[in-house]
Amino acid sequence: MPLVSISNVDMRYGGPQGTLAVSGLDMAIERGEFVAVVGPSGCGKSTLMKLVTGLHIPQAGVVTVAGDRVTKPVSIVGMAFQNPTMLPWRTTLDNILLPLEIVERHRHRLRANKKEYVAKAEALLETVGLKGFGDKFPWQLSGGMQQRANLCRALIHEPELLMLDEPFGALDAFTREELWCVIRDLHASQDVTIVLVTHDLRESVFLADTVYVMSARPGRVVAEHRVPFARPRD
Ligand code: ADP
Ligand code: ADP
Repeated sequence: MPLVSISNVDMRYGGPQGTLAVSGLDMAIERGEFVAVVGPSGCGKSTLMKLVTGLHIPQAGVVTVAGDRVTKPVSIVGMAFQNPTMLPWRTTLDNILLPLEIVERHRHRLRANKKEYVAKAEALLETVGLKGFGDKFPWQLSGGMQQRANLCRALIHEPELLMLDEPFGALDAFTREELWCVIRDLHASQDVTIVLVTHDLRESVFLADTVYVMSARPGRVVAEHRVPFARPRD
């Protein structure tokens, strides 16, 4: 059974006469797969992400994650949004720990092992090139640095499913390619399924096993490409 299954999904915003954002959407994402979704602005990439994470419920069709029909926000997911959404009154480190405070079963662990999680957050900051920035507030970081911190926040609870919505958009080319390697290593070394939304075809082919191409009005999948050199996972 696929980890994520999207069957014949329609999502319309703004009532029955509103915009049909995606229509007849079908996608099956296997456990451990690295999927990229590419397509022009407005083709429904963000809508797709929100349907999988349970932030939107479709008017027609079914979305399941780990066999359960999605009817509310899903807790096994880590998500990094395109626009960094850090809480301005918290330090970078405390922003990264946020998912642990939200999900009940992590909350206990955080209370009991705060030191361990702080160390883990600091290690993540180091992998994205932000060693020592944990005590800065978001407004003290550049856009690219906030985006990297957001990635740490998506990873702190070791999600089974990692959803990345244009996570590298604000990065300079040098940092971006370094982060591609961070994500690729993460995928190779851990049991994580990744869905990446991007405008960057090169990025999609470099990172993913499968690339879905979407087109707009209404949003739908028009092509599916298996990257020939995708490495099999052990
Ligand atoms: P993408 O992420 O590929 O740019 P979106 O999923 O954001 O595409 O949008 C798909 C379509 O749905 C677009 O036509 C967009 O204008 C519309 N849309 C997205 N969010 C909303 C919303 N909250 N209200 C009304 N229309 C929306
Ligand atoms: P970006 O390329 O991510 O937009 P900037 O050009 O704003 O980054 O910053 C360049 C470098 O300056 C950063 O990589 C970082 O090392 C340093 N820097 C930026 N903001 C701060 C800050 N608030 N405190 C310390 N160093 C910073």
